[in-house]
Amino acid sequence: MSTTGRRIADLIIIGGGASGMSCAIAFAKSRRREGKSSDVLILEKNDRVGKKVLATGNGRCNLGNQDMQVSHFHSRKEDFPKQVLAQVPQKETLSFLSEIGIITAAEGNKYFPLSKSSSSVVDAFRFALTEYGIEVILDTEVTEICKDKIFHVSSQKGVEYAAKRVVIACGGACAPALGTTGDGYRWLRQLGHKVYAPKPSIVQLVTENSVTKALAGLKLEAELTLVSDDMVIAQQFGEVLFAAYGLSGPAVFQVSGEVSRRVRKGNLTAPMKVSLRLFEEADLLAISEELSRRRETMAGRPVDQLLLSILPGRIASMLLKSALDRPLSVLISSLSDKDIARIVATMRAWDFVVLGTQGLENAQTTIGGADCEEFAPETMESLLVPGLYCCGEVIDVDGDCGGYNLQWAFSSGILAGRSASEASLREGES
Ligand SMILES: Cc1cc2nc3c(=O)[nH]c(=O)nc-3n(C[C@H](O)[C@H](O)[C@H](O)COP(=O)(O)OP(=O)(O)OC[C@H]3O[C@@H](n4cnc5c(N)ncnc54)[C@H](O)[C@@H]3O)c2cc1C
Repeated sequence: MSTTGRRIADLIIIGGGASGMSCAIAFAKSRRREGKSSDVLILEKNDRVGKKVLATGNGRCNLGNQDMQVSHFHSRKEDFPKQVLAQVPQKETLSFLSEIGIITAAEGNKYFPLSKSSSSVVDAFRFALTEYGIEVILDTEVTEICKDKIFHVSSQKGVEYAAKRVVIACGGACAPALGTTGDGYRWLRQLGHKVYAPKPSIVQLVTENSVTKALAGLKLEAELTLVSDDMVIAQQFGEVLFAAYGLSGPAVFQVSGEVSRRVRKGNLTAPMKVSLRLFEEADLLAISEELSRRRETMAGRPVDQLLLSILPGRIASMLLKSALDRPLSVLISSLSDKDIARIVATMRAWDFVVLGTQGLENAQTTIGGADCEEFAPETMESLLVPGLYCCGEVIDVDGDCGGYNLQWAFSSGILAGRSASEASLREGES
């Protein structure tokens, strides 16, 4: 039904991203199963839906992971993600995706669409939205939500939308260039909800940078250990990329949330370092013997050549500089046993002092958001404002790198849509 300057719908979903589109389809599907039509509106500020989904997985869209241990999901209310994922488990999200035409294949543990193309995922969602008759209003930035008997949603264009139920699916505050500027937090606060300040996760680390700057653009495989106050916080094997500001790459992304969680008012709550182990213990033993041999066979060469073919040239030089306290022009013959032990020790644990993380603009997901204590994990409905639902990144759940954030967006979106539909059916809405 529509009136001049005002559009009334069964359900308004703010945000046409991964969770909002899943929610809309789940709502319409659930009502269709009961022989009911539905009038669902998605309000999206961008000129197209799924802009962030397009950017996922470097354009390949890593949309899930076979390793579904709940420890890959983080929230201040620890049980919340587990309870939600029990309602809509991965098996259900995979069949939901398959029903709208997204066939997945695993690469290692990670699920991707068979096409390895995020645009085909967005296309499948777009076609399904059309099939279910869901109205998508683009270029529409929601500015306010208020509630009397029903919800009133205003846009920057001055149009008012009204509905008995509203879903906030507008994402978190990371990657604002893709539309997610944390708008939902303000509305949630105005509606009486507690919101935890957003922090970046799956993001680069800022470290003391004299070494990383010199190696900017180079990468290596390493076991990365994050240490705070002499305690191991996280460990990850994978690619590490050196950059002017510090460290990047998959292994770094995976531990970055643990750094972010320990930043308060811009400062780390305790000293932190990242330690890179470049070789297994058995290899280090062999390298140690080789270096002692080179002291004889390469005696007359500069120390700069000591790690020839053991590490790439520039990385070798910087590691030697970190391990030794003299110019690399001195002769290899001048190295003591202690020096060789120090070089090997640096390969075992090459330390970088952590200063913090890059900002939300560079992050892939947001830590923080709407307090899960105030939402029902069985429905995603607010416990404070009946008829208000949240799903996706706007709520205080973040996942590890590896498909867990899209998994959360799909599971929580489907649950919100299904629950809103069940509520509408219970209340006999035609
Ligand atoms: C570069 C990058 C790569 C990523 N890769 C992966 C990956 O491979 N695997 C993975 O699992 N996760 C990945 N993520 C994270 C994942 O994309 C998000 O966690 C997920 O999209 C969140 O879904 P959502 O529906 O909550 O939010 P979004 O998908 O961000 O959708 C929110 C939508 O709301 C709209 N919106 C915001 N404010 C308003 C407003 N005021 N009015 C109207 N509309 C509004 C936005 O424009 C946006 O379209 C990646 C993120 C980034 C930035």
